[in-house]
Amino acid sequence: MRQTGRMTGPRTSDADAVGGVVVRPATVADVAAVARVWREGWADGHAGHVPAALVAERTPASFDPRALERIDRTWVAEGGGVVAGFVVVVDDEVEQVYVDRDWRGQGVAERLLRHAEAVIGRGGRRTAWLAVVAGNTRARRFYARMGWRDRGPFTYLAQTAGGSFPVPTHRYEREVGDGAEGEELDAGRTAVAAPGSRDRPPPSLDGAVRFDEQARAAAAEDFGQLVHQGPEGVLLPASAGDIAATVRWAAAGGRRFAAQGNRHSVFGRAQVRDGIVADLRRLRAVHDVQDERVVVDAGATWREVLAATLPRGLAPPVLPDYLDLSVGGTLVVGGVGSRTWRHGAVSDNVVELRVVTGRGEQVSCSPTRNPRLFDAVRAGLGQVAVITRATLPLVPAPQGVRRFLLSYPDLATMLADQRRLAGEPRFGAVQGAVLAGPAGGWVFRLDVVRALSGSPPDDASLLAGLADDRPRAQPSTLPFPDYLGRLDALEQALRASGQWWFPHPWLTTFVGDAAVEPVVAGELARLTPADLGPLGQVALSPILRESVTSPLLRLPEDRLCHVFNLIRLPATDDQAGAQRLVAANRVVYERVRDAGGTLYPVSALPMSPADWRGHFGSAFGLLSEAKQEHDPGRVLTPGYEVFGSATR
Ligand SMILES: Cc1cc2nc3c(=O)[nH]c(=O)nc-3n(C[C@H](O)[C@H](O)[C@H](O)COP(=O)(O)OP(=O)(O)OC[C@H]3O[C@@H](n4cnc5c(N)ncnc54)[C@H](O)[C@@H]3O)c2cc1C
Repeated sequence: MRQTGRMTGPRTSDADAVGGVVVRPATVADVAAVARVWREGWADGHAGHVPAALVAERTPASFDPRALERIDRTWVAEGGGVVAGFVVVVDDEVEQVYVDRDWRGQGVAERLLRHAEAVIGRGGRRTAWLAVVAGNTRARRFYARMGWRDRGPFTYLAQTAGGSFPVPTHRYEREVGDGAEGEELDAGRTAVAAPGSRDRPPPSLDGAVRFDEQARAAAAEDFGQLVHQGPEGVLLPASAGDIAATVRWAAAGGRRFAAQGNRHSVFGRAQVRDGIVADLRRLRAVHDVQDERVVVDAGATWREVLAATLPRGLAPPVLPDYLDLSVGGTLVVGGVGSRTWRHGAVSDNVVELRVVTGRGEQVSCSPTRNPRLFDAVRAGLGQVAVITRATLPLVPAPQGVRRFLLSYPDLATMLADQRRLAGEPRFGAVQGAVLAGPAGGWVFRLDVVRALSGSPPDDASLLAGLADDRPRAQPSTLPFPDYLGRLDALEQALRASGQWWFPHPWLTTFVGDAAVEPVVAGELARLTPADLGPLGQVALSPILRESVTSPLLRLPEDRLCHVFNLIRLPATDDQAGAQRLVAANRVVYERVRDAGGTLYPVSALPMSPADWRGHFGSAFGLLSEAKQEHDPGRVLTPGYEVFGSATR
């Protein structure tokens, strides 16, 4: 097989030793040395990690002809007159990197890899890739440290004399062209960002700020896999005071700052180019569970909150459908889940927030204490403050639920039942979905749920009067935690297929009831199942407008609105295709907007400051005044581009 294991042995001397090494194109005279380094390195990196049949194929003699075949695409690192290592570049692939056993741990591998990146970047490619066998964890750590992103499982077809062998590997990628941080050919530096020289050093903290490439590369990732902006440093806060001190330091040095929760944004909204990001997951304690409320750090996920409250028979009244979002990351966008239609967004169900403003001040806010700030933080896209702690209400959790998946022949019939159920209390949750049918066309489905208390409900009377295709109804009874975790199976399937790591150009909008049928029918007519991808779907669920009270969560004027969500899950890691879908999102959004609809800002599409001003409409004044008061330097959360660039 081709690029696989690597060699990072124990360090034998200081990395400066690499200074005596030059990287140069290989010649035919190097073939024997390259083959020897390859043979030894391959054995070290692959033992126990690849099929035995492949090991049998890779005889000692097989490396010489393979080295010769590639010699015009090989560069060697030469030190003291001997070949210390080599790299092979084939198109945009770093096909092989190996270092002589005696030279490992001295920075040679880093230098060869950077050289290969530069070769690929200068060849006009934007992204370099390589495959590494799944079990070679040391090599995988090395690539991560060098800023390469793990794109997930990948079956590599290793070529042998007898044919090709499928080998389980992981595909890694790194941006190398068009403005990506590149290395000069032969520059020889190992990329470690130093603290900026713009001003005084970072403040002393309970936690730390990391400036190394591994931390910065991880902070340039999010679920969307569409935007990658690396910060200058990553704050690992050990206290809210760390966030306040670092925001002040960032502001004083002209840097920008963003909190990162669980990085489920799909369009780089938690990223900062060259500024500082804070890893809020470091602050994720669930502090104090009482009968009616719980105090949680903003980096806690909903799953972690529930782990503390469910044993006491309690849960927040509204949860997002997916439980691995952070509390802070959810509150700043609003947070929509199965009970939102009657009970509002997650951001409508908050008792108090503790925040750090863009001035670096720690402040508490609630409906009665600093209410303007409270309103500007909830669904305020992180523009005025970082949430560090939230007090959430709790309500009794049911033991279980009776759930029905109902099928409909067409959109109009499903929407008619949605409208009907939105006006009645018979179910606690009503969520619709449109899925690609197995034989083509679309399948329409309502997911309705009733909490179980006492004796089980009578199914026939619960479903009376609904127009679904009753023989196809799928009833089930679930323990409440299983219902809350209903997306876990989908996540597992996406991880198994690799789609979890592919781009996610999602679009979520809200459409008023008056326009919903023509808008959704029009989009379904344009949409192909391929645009959603395998396991993708269109979510279409009702929301009673009066239940949503966060002023910055923008909904259409209609009394009944609908969440209209294109959950696109591409089958491949095709960036060009994903960018096409991002462009398509923009066009769909404009059609929705022209029909009186609004955007849920968790979507993957470009938005200018003017777009945001239009989006917030009459509530823009609230946000811009709060921005002026609490973040006049425009330090916070630049990833949404609500206020454009900093004024200083
Ligand atoms: C698999 C998946 C399922 C989803 N399911 C739902 C769902 O059921 N309901 C729903 O409403 N949305 C859902 N979303 C969208 C999700 O709510 C948003 O993307 C959310 O912002 C992600 O939260 P996070 O903790 O991952 O935040 P991040 O992606 O880390 O951050 C999101 C934004 O919030 C800011 N931020 C994060 N923490 C803080 C903080 N403490 N203070 C201030 N700003 C902060 C970031 O800077 C960034 O701008 C889903 C997304 C994915 C990928």
